[in-house]
Amino acid sequence: MQRDLLDALRCPGTHEESWLVAMVLEASGSTLLVAELACPVCGAEFRIVNGIAHFADSTPVAPPALPSEPYTPAMALRLAALLGVAESQLPVGLVGRYTAASGALASLVSAPQLLINSGPVIPGAGISCIVVADRLPLGVESLAAIAVDAAHATATFLDSATRTLRLGGRLVAPADAPVPAGMRELARDATEWVAETTTRASGLVELRRRAPDSIG
Ligand SMILES: [Zn+2]
Repeated sequence: MQRDLLDALRCPGTHEESWLVAMVLEASGSTLLVAELACPVCGAEFRIVNGIAHFADSTPVAPPALPSEPYTPAMALRLAALLGVAESQLPVGLVGRYTAASGALASLVSAPQLLINSGPVIPGAGISCIVVADRLPLGVESLAAIAVDAAHATATFLDSATRTLRLGGRLVAPADAPVPAGMRELARDATEWVAETTTRASGLVELRRRAPDSIG
């Protein structure tokens, strides 16, 4: 996992959004290899092992099946068009079977990639990998776009994906999945729809300091 992503991580617990405290045990350049993450609100602990951050509980999501054919340049070009991102500082999220597009997509989209539940897909250098349960452990407006496959397209997961998108960020999901509230559908075909965020999600509660002249 890339060090840059640490700031975007949030506890997946069902409480108010909270940062995670990180203790890095092993790193190579900007890549975190071994680290411990802890939530200061609920005390939950998570680990980065072999460069992969694990947020799934004791019942891990089954590794997704890879598509029977590798991602062709044409398939990658279509996915890049659906995601609607060329350059971005914010990562593009690929979930489940879409992680198979990682290599082909890298030549089309310069934005960093975040692979989520990539199973046997081996990420390229500089690409972050996380394993999650039923929701994304990311703060609001931390992704430029995200593609969620059928194995993950529950209402809970899609809602959490919507929250992580920047304003105008796109979500690609299976045609039979419901379009979450706050998303405007842009296009659909027999297999997928693409929608963009139209509202800003609220995130961490901002701490307000009392103005100095109001003290005393
Ligand atoms: Zn927590």
